[in-house]
Amino acid sequence: MAFTADLHLHSRYAYACSKDLTLANMAAWAKVKGIQLLSSADFTHPAWLAELEENLTPAGDGDFEFDGVRFVLGTELSCVYKQGGRSRRVHLLVFAPGFEAVHGIREMLTGLNSKLNGDGRPTVGASARDLTARLLDIDEACMVVPAHIWTPWYGMLGSKSGFDALDECFGDMTAHIPAVETGLSSDPEMNWGVPALAGKTIVSFSDAHSLPNMGRELTVFQGDAGYRDLAAGLKVNQVEQTIEFFPEEGKYHLTGHRKCGISQTPDETGRTGTRCPQCGRPLTLGVLHRVRELSQDGRASNEEERRPYTKLAPLIELLAHTMGKGRSAKSVGLAYHRVCAELGGEIKALTQAGYDDLERAGGEALAIAVTKVRDGQVDIVPGFDGQYGTVRPAD
Ligand SMILES: [Zn+2]
Ligand SMILES: [Zn+2]
Repeated sequence: MAFTADLHLHSRYAYACSKDLTLANMAAWAKVKGIQLLSSADFTHPAWLAELEENLTPAGDGDFEFDGVRFVLGTELSCVYKQGGRSRRVHLLVFAPGFEAVHGIREMLTGLNSKLNGDGRPTVGASARDLTARLLDIDEACMVVPAHIWTPWYGMLGSKSGFDALDECFGDMTAHIPAVETGLSSDPEMNWGVPALAGKTIVSFSDAHSLPNMGRELTVFQGDAGYRDLAAGLKVNQVEQTIEFFPEEGKYHLTGHRKCGISQTPDETGRTGTRCPQCGRPLTLGVLHRVRELSQDGRASNEEERRPYTKLAPLIELLAHTMGKGRSAKSVGLAYHRVCAELGGEIKALTQAGYDDLERAGGEALAIAVTKVRDGQVDIVPGFDGQYGTVRPAD
């Protein structure tokens, strides 16, 4: 048994997130995509929490269900604090085994003066280490996973406000951090060589701010879709595989300055320095640069720790490309839903569907496009400084 999980999600109560992110819509899109386990997201927000308590049906220890889709209680917290003379901003994914723990967490955060009725992803004025200790104090079955660890801002290892190692961030709590989320701009292979991450399970989730982006990155765990096997999945690396973006498509892959249209590989930055050659401002150091920096010495992961992964381009983008239209065009949306319905969901369509089935459901151009992406025959323009990259099937 295995289950596909997207555990970095947001509700319509998180800033910059779509008003369509309701429980009903999230469950409906999980089925369109083929995802079995979702995070409830944003459980500290009072209005959203009330909706969760009213609408999620308990389905065993730590497990909930809505409209045939499994949920666990999870959220994202933003730690903003000073350490070592620098300001630090670290986003954490937090999972709780039940609503009692959630209420305990809300109480603890209120005691730290966090504002819980604004952003569904509240700011906490405590260190990542202290927050982890407090969460485990509330319920030792709580779990903490650093989110999108390489993002320049808000990533645990990010270039702007992060650390150089997990234990620099978590201190004596390091052993209680089971896993790290690698984010869109890096893939597992980039992470395997980083000694700071040795022994930690690598997971990928979407951080979707809108329904269509759900499941753009995913983790497939062994076992049954629920809290118990999720915990085992994270703690003893019961990951079957992760499903990934091409890391170049992420918006912080390369180093650069968006306003000046400057992007650089780590080698270029190594030659010309970390200031923009046009305007002289500091460049936003990308994930690839940062991964290189932290891969310099020490132990890399061993074979047993590594899990297979698949790189995909979103189906909606492939359809938009083959149909010569924008991804928000109505005809593209209709084609997307038809292909998903006929082929058992987006993930199956992209990873498993045969050529003939793809052709029947989405046309010859789509079948060719999916096959090319699977074979890695793609043209890539890497993202940098907040600008997404593009990945297209090669001509
Ligand atoms: Zn975040
Ligand atoms: Zn510039």
